[in-house]
Amino acid sequence: MRLLQTLTRLVFGATPKMRRVMAYWASTALVYGFCLTIVAHEQAAGAVPASQANLVTALGVASLLVFYILLRCAPRLNIANWKLALRQAQFAIIFDLVLYAVLDTLRGAMLIGLPVVIVFCAFSLRPRQTVVLSACAVAGLAATMTALVLSNPAHYPLYNECVYFALTTFGMVSVTAITGELHRLRGQLVEAVDTIRTLATTDELTLLANRRHMNDLLALEQSRRAASRQHVCVALIDIDFFKAINDKFGHAAGDAVLKSFAREAGATLRSGDTLARWGGEEFLLLMPDTRLDEATAVIERMAARIAAMPVADIDPSVRITFSAGVAASLPLERFDQAIHRADEAMYRAKANGRNCVLAA
Ligand code: GH3
Ligand code: MG
Ligand code: MG
Repeated sequence: MRLLQTLTRLVFGATPKMRRVMAYWASTALVYGFCLTIVAHEQAAGAVPASQANLVTALGVASLLVFYILLRCAPRLNIANWKLALRQAQFAIIFDLVLYAVLDTLRGAMLIGLPVVIVFCAFSLRPRQTVVLSACAVAGLAATMTALVLSNPAHYPLYNECVYFALTTFGMVSVTAITGELHRLRGQLVEAVDTIRTLATTDELTLLANRRHMNDLLALEQSRRAASRQHVCVALIDIDFFKAINDKFGHAAGDAVLKSFAREAGATLRSGDTLARWGGEEFLLLMPDTRLDEATAVIERMAARIAAMPVADIDPSVRITFSAGVAASLPLERFDQAIHRADEAMYRAKANGRNCVLAA
């Protein structure tokens, strides 16, 4: 089982993205394999000369190997996905047209390969690139058919080739239009997912992380620190006498205080810290890789900035303060236990007269 897993990782890569790329490559290999089987079959029936059959088989197998190596090495060589997809598609179209010229009775089956190539590129190419690729494929088909009709009109009747051409062109135009529409819908989907992610993770009023997002970050931090055994601190911060601000200046003024608090408190944080709105006028601060004394210093710095913060909509003489409890999360302990200790310390800070930071 382990051997099979190692082998799969070796052949198809370790990342989900590489595995997806390899799954596409494997589908291409399957289609190439099917086409080359038809070639072998027609060669066995004497309809295709051995020299031509061997040449296209070698070409198909070599291209599969070259693209496998390029796709596997693309991240290290810094080659963009779409560039390789474009090259693969261009080669596939030429190969398809060569097979159309080489095959005898089953050559018509190769025509379906052209729209299939366009479908394969639906998500990697921009609509303009797809249109140009389709146009080149149709032009290539026209040139191949013209050459065949001119070289051997008895074997390639003009009428038949014209019917094949018209139907394939119709298929190509339809598929190209649909991939353009798919591209547009995909853009809308990406935008919608972005909006949903923002709505799901951000507090609407303060634009800080919301409680749900903070819980996700805590879970992530829990697994990260299990490996690194770093010091991590959490702090609960609660604005003092906030109800009185609402009562005296109105709810809108209270909202303005929360927004200003979030902006100013956020400005005092280091890059790895995360401040979230935990509820009402209460905030949770996560400080990875921080000792308790460092964490207390961060919050005291924040308290000084908040105390000096002017807030629009309320009496300029009113100063905002908060009470905070800080706790160091012990190794192997769950974060909710540290949050509970920080909460107790915060309530002691309130009982002590507020406007202070206490360590648990
Ligand atoms: P303490 O110093 O003990 O924390 O007193 P406090 O007044 O800050 O605490 P209390 O729990 O009594 O009141 C919190 C108030 O916060 C009550 C609630 O109406 C208000 N509040 C909660 N969320 C919001 C909000 O989004 N906007 C506004 N304007 N007020 C809010
Ligand atoms: Mg309060
Ligand atoms: Mg409160």
